[in-house]
Amino acid sequence: MTNQTLELFDLPVLNAAPQPTPAPLTHNARLWLPKRVLFTPDALDEPFGQQIYERVAAQGLPIEVLKSNRITGLRGEDARETYRNAKNTMAVVKAPAGALRLQPTPPSADWQMNLAEGCPAHCQYCYLAGSLQGPPVVRVFANLPQLLHNTATYEQAGRRTSFEVSCYTDVLGIEHLTGSLAECIRYFGTREGAQLRFVSKYNQVDSLLGLPHNGHTRARVSLNAEPVARRLEGGTASIEARLQALRQLALPHAQGGGGYPVG
Ligand code: SF4
Repeated sequence: MTNQTLELFDLPVLNAAPQPTPAPLTHNARLWLPKRVLFTPDALDEPFGQQIYERVAAQGLPIEVLKSNRITGLRGEDARETYRNAKNTMAVVKAPAGALRLQPTPPSADWQMNLAEGCPAHCQYCYLAGSLQGPPVVRVFANLPQLLHNTATYEQAGRRTSFEVSCYTDVLGIEHLTGSLAECIRYFGTREGAQLRFVSKYNQVDSLLGLPHNGHTRARVSLNAEPVARRLEGGTASIEARLQALRQLALPHAQGGGGYPVG
């Protein structure tokens, strides 16, 4: 164990007087409003990309339409500034053809299907930092309908095939800007042989409550010990707010909830 790890978890000193436990935090997740929103030409050729454009414009965020499909201009003077620039940027792009070749993702689901790559939160242990290439800009896929229709070729007869959309982003953290998760939920609601799965550390679930999911989406929240979430999961909802969001998702429609299977 490194000194840094010891420091992070603040191990108790033997014989020290017991410290009062701080009251649990109850705040909502901070709504992510990127300082730059970039659209590639290919993304704007997609009807779903145009929908995202309308959403972002309605929120008054600064939009730049790029001349080419390359995302550039994110590098800062040092790694810290590059990170800061990227974490404040959303790029709407067309997913490359390789995104149509799905990867298995056991035990979470049979297959992963990414609606975006990159996340607005700042969890200090996040594996995305080491698994995505380049500065950690949030890339949202404008050809989502194509990616969704592609999943049908992975459905297996006689069983419900599951698809996980949260491997490379927090889907709720960007939903107010993209509507991508709602699009997925509506699509899988029409598929008898498939199940959608997502997980989040955010809590803005109101837009999901009335969607026709037909029980084909399993909504999960990610939980951690409260002191760990408080220190290491920057930008996310408090544990209390995540649990309240899970409750809203699980409650039946008749009680104002989403009626989702949850986990
Ligand atoms: S919410 Fe998930 S994807 Fe986003 S920074 Fe935290 S661990 Fe990473």
